[in-house]
Amino acid sequence: MGLTEYKKKRRFNKTPEPKPEEKSSEFGNIFVVQKHRATQLHYDFRLEADGVLKSWAVPKGPPMDPSVKRLAMQVEDHPVDYANFEGVIPEGEYGGGTVMVWDMGVYAPENTTNVSNALRKGELKFTMLGKKLKGSFVLVRTRDRQWLLMKHKDEYALDGEDITETQPYSILTKRTLAEIAEDEGGVVKKAATGDPKKLPPRRGIKRRKKSAKKKVWHSNR
Ligand code: MN
Repeated sequence: MGLTEYKKKRRFNKTPEPKPEEKSSEFGNIFVVQKHRATQLHYDFRLEADGVLKSWAVPKGPPMDPSVKRLAMQVEDHPVDYANFEGVIPEGEYGGGTVMVWDMGVYAPENTTNVSNALRKGELKFTMLGKKLKGSFVLVRTRDRQWLLMKHKDEYALDGEDITETQPYSILTKRTLAEIAEDEGGVVKKAATGDPKKLPPRRGIKRRKKSAKKKVWHSNR
């Protein structure tokens, strides 16, 4: 796919999102899941392959419960730099709304070394090593851009738990969507509708100082 579609959809003088540059990450096999309160709340599930992040929009988020199948709509490839993007896409721009880095880590394909080839064939089994998502998963294409994301039964599986409810915070900053919107100049009310009504306990929140310039949070700075 490449980054042509990514580039075409965005105005880089308006959005703080990364420029369309193809490159490998330090590891070559990173994954990221971004919680995105755009027109509809969804989770962008991204796997690094061939210098880009292969991407799916998962409306209900990735499951850790093996009895749950989650719809995953394949979307345009994103640049590898997108993995660190947490902040606000201005309203009126493509994907306008608040973005949280919900999980990040590395993954390994199972029974193949060629991720792109497996995706072309419509099935990829893989193991994830994230902060929230761990163990074996599968992506299966049902038609066109429509896929299903499922957790395999293993020692990491969480029967009966919706991990999007129990672990709603940013893994970079521990912030809620509403807090990211507030810190980065987004629409707080809209972002807040993506947070759970009852928030689980947390520690170590990294909030931007009131006086500080609004900008995108980069984990490596
Ligand atoms: Mn999105």
